[in-house]
Amino acid sequence: MPIYEYECDSCHLRFEVKQGFNDKPVTTCPKCQGHVRRVFHPAPIIFKGSGFYVTDNRKASDIGSDLGKKEDINEKLPAKKENGE
Ligand SMILES: [Zn+2]
Repeated sequence: MPIYEYECDSCHLRFEVKQGFNDKPVTTCPKCQGHVRRVFHPAPIIFKGSGFYVTDNRKASDIGSDLGKKEDINEKLPAKKENGE
């Protein structure tokens, strides 16, 4: 069951709600009954954009090697498909 995060517009309370696809979205804050909105996470794809989420904690060389690995994987994926034909 997916967990959605909401933030209250009034008191900025953040809370998570487990919801099935058939459940109604939460619209009111459990604390102040104010209006809440869904918080969309950037998901774990953060490193896809080049330098989009780079922090000072990472050296340029580390990022370079990470990108190199990802390119390597991407190159191998289509090759597998071709072999399967
Ligand atoms: Zn609230």
